[in-house]
Amino acid sequence: MKKILKGLFKFLFIIAILVCTYFYDDIEKYINNINVLDNVKSTVKYDDDLKIYFVDVGQADCILIKYLNNNILIDAGNNEDGPLLVQYFKSLGVDKFDYVIGTHAHEDHIGGMDDIINNFQIDHFMMPDVITPTKTFEDVLDSLANHNVKFETPTIDSKFNVSLLNFQILFVGDDKCDLNNTSIVTKLSFGDTSYLFMGDATSSVENMILNKNISSDVLKVGHHGSQYSSSATFLKKVSPKYAVIQVGANNSYNHPKAVVLNKLKRICSKIYRTDLDGTIILTSDGVNINFETVKTNTNGG
Ligand SMILES: [Zn+2]
Repeated sequence: MKKILKGLFKFLFIIAILVCTYFYDDIEKYINNINVLDNVKSTVKYDDDLKIYFVDVGQADCILIKYLNNNILIDAGNNEDGPLLVQYFKSLGVDKFDYVIGTHAHEDHIGGMDDIINNFQIDHFMMPDVITPTKTFEDVLDSLANHNVKFETPTIDSKFNVSLLNFQILFVGDDKCDLNNTSIVTKLSFGDTSYLFMGDATSSVENMILNKNISSDVLKVGHHGSQYSSSATFLKKVSPKYAVIQVGANNSYNHPKAVVLNKLKRICSKIYRTDLDGTIILTSDGVNINFETVKTNTNGG
């Protein structure tokens, strides 16, 4: 009986070797294909381009992120910019927003937000959970209530996707005494490319996110190029190929500060500025990033 079993095992072993040898080429091809797929994944080019508009709204922030029929807005300029932004976005074919983020409650970020809420369908509206006793903030709350849009506050490290755009919330604060440091900090990844939006967060927030994956191709520089943001350590960790500064011509704060510009030059970032360039339009296929600049009627310099 033992002999029969031994013989059977030998037979099965030989059959197994023969089968493996026969299919060796196919198995090898399969493994190679997996490797090829992995390589393709890291250099995937999408048919449709991501577009990011850093809209020239003078001394204020407004960023439109556009992909296919999806639109995401980060900040909406000053109060007087609202109607012009509505016009500009409609001219770009925007009819709704998947997400609108008001980074923090200062007028130069949420001034035009009531006009946006009054004119477009909004699926998600996000702001820090900080009540601020200003007419601008009350206007935002009134518009949200009138259009049944929920006020959402994201949690740190939460993620959301819009089509192939992957967003991660790196920070949101709740310090009523320092609204800049309540800024919602967002990182966007698209294919191999990445983008970091700092709102007006200062270096104390930068220190809190230093250990996260903040390395990005493009940095929306914090707080219009103020000297209280963009520490050398932070900039080195982000290592942006491109830095975008949203800032008004001849602004009373003297932004952007020379010290910040010099730090960006030291890490070899190419700098774009709305005060000099007008509206800055970035295009990416998930691998390459290109810039063009245009003058727009959006209350810039
Ligand atoms: Zn600001």
